[in-house]
Amino acid sequence: MRLEIPIVSLFCGCGGMDYGLKQKGFVPIVAIDNSEIAIKTYNENNVPHVAVKSDISKLSGKKIISMIDGLGNGIKPRGIVGGPPCQPFSISNVYHNPEDPRNFLPLKFASIMKAVSKKYKLDFFVFENVVGLNSKKHANVFESIKKSFIDAGFNLFIGELNAKYFGVAQSRKRLFVVGINKDLYPNIEFKFPKGNKDCIHTVRDVIGGLPEPIFFSRSLSAGDIPFHQNHWTMNPKSPKFSNNLDNENSANGRSFRKLHWDKPSNTLAFGHREINVHPNGHRRISMFEAMRIQGFPDNYKIVGNLTQQVYQVSDALPPNVALAIGESIRKAIYLPQMRISKKLINWYKENHRDYPWRNTNDPYSILIAEKLLQQTAAIDKLVEVYNRIINTYPTPWLLAHADISDLEDIIQPLGLRYRAKELRALANGLITRHNGEVPRDLKKLIELPGIGEYAARAVLSLAFGEDMPIVDTNISRFLYRIFGLEGPLPSNPARKKALNELAGKIIPKGRARKFNLALLDLCAKICKPNKPQCLECPVQMHCAYYRGHNN
Ligand code: SF4
Repeated sequence: MRLEIPIVSLFCGCGGMDYGLKQKGFVPIVAIDNSEIAIKTYNENNVPHVAVKSDISKLSGKKIISMIDGLGNGIKPRGIVGGPPCQPFSISNVYHNPEDPRNFLPLKFASIMKAVSKKYKLDFFVFENVVGLNSKKHANVFESIKKSFIDAGFNLFIGELNAKYFGVAQSRKRLFVVGINKDLYPNIEFKFPKGNKDCIHTVRDVIGGLPEPIFFSRSLSAGDIPFHQNHWTMNPKSPKFSNNLDNENSANGRSFRKLHWDKPSNTLAFGHREINVHPNGHRRISMFEAMRIQGFPDNYKIVGNLTQQVYQVSDALPPNVALAIGESIRKAIYLPQMRISKKLINWYKENHRDYPWRNTNDPYSILIAEKLLQQTAAIDKLVEVYNRIINTYPTPWLLAHADISDLEDIIQPLGLRYRAKELRALANGLITRHNGEVPRDLKKLIELPGIGEYAARAVLSLAFGEDMPIVDTNISRFLYRIFGLEGPLPSNPARKKALNELAGKIIPKGRARKFNLALLDLCAKICKPNKPQCLECPVQMHCAYYRGHNN
């Protein structure tokens, strides 16, 4: 089963980037753009109702967080993606105005991303723009953008990709900054996809053989256009169309660039009147042809009038490029996580420890076991004590009314007689606050007498099967080792939010119980405090500690 990765998409436009990312399991939960018509296109082709119109320059990180929380489904984003409008940094923009408000949108992206990451501990972000931003002319601006990404807690990877190497019949270079959360993944080296330089698609490959489009008229609606509702174009009124426009570099000027059948298209970046001329020279290309050149699938439909369609198509990121970036992110972050989980669970099948509290789903029994396991190393004696307690007091009501000296006698082998009173208080808490039931709620569990964060999480995961991470000192050591985290181990790891989040990220969906037990057993048998048995470890090849000691 493929892991789905929730993302937030800023400046989503008509959805080229998100469509590509979606093919690799990145699912937008909130998408925002300033163009109403682009939002309409997005919602009709991507995830329905996800995109909303809003002016991002006026939004705060707090507002985006409230939009995410307002969904009410508890899903937290793991990444943010977006390509702020890039005209200010475009090489072809000779009238650069330092006061252009669009100059500040990349910094806006960074500030929103920082706030959202602070709240949800994002794994990554993807920032896309024109390559001009990486030029000498904009060096200062780009430096300040990078600085704000670093301040937000990310290691940066910068690359320029040309769409023509990714199965797109268009030479279109884009700049990407991919950020990987440096607290969570300090050792991940993100590698940009290389694409395939030996397989270049031409204009003929993608629009050759198409029927002639319909010419624009005001009365036309989508339903009137045969073949595909975007297969329409401007009327070829200029005499130039009958004057043998012979190639794409002719002196016809920027407004009459003719495509070449046997080459990829130049970058589709149309002003309203600058749609490329068809390779046969008799008209401009249709919107559908432009969509094919961008690599949109044929079932994609761009809505709006002709001018609106022109802007949406030419502003889009070719989906295939986004798909390749998504694949690289999966390889860098999620594939190792999935492999770690899978290997741990497989190892557990053959190597698990067997205890009576692991053979039940009864929340009361598991709660009692977790209470007894607190600060107890004598596990054999604990099995005996656990069995006697559960057999003598099989319900919270019986335990709450236990004779204290009888209970102390049962606990005696552990040498912790005071625990008798604690157990009775715990049972009393269940009776008085929860009608004798174990609550399925982290806060309510923690409020029970003598139950800390770790035990509460363990009950939710082991008794109720919730995808809840558990982090004790041993598991925190494992996380530090495998992900190469630096610094001393925390004194109370169960309460360390970042560690719980990190452990949560490697839990395979719906399998927390098995996964958490596997982690506990691996830490007890293999990843020991002083001498980890790395050579016997099933996740050795993913482990930063092992690599550091064997290179
Ligand atoms: S390889 Fe060694 S340090 Fe890494 S998780 Fe396994 S036992 Fe622990």
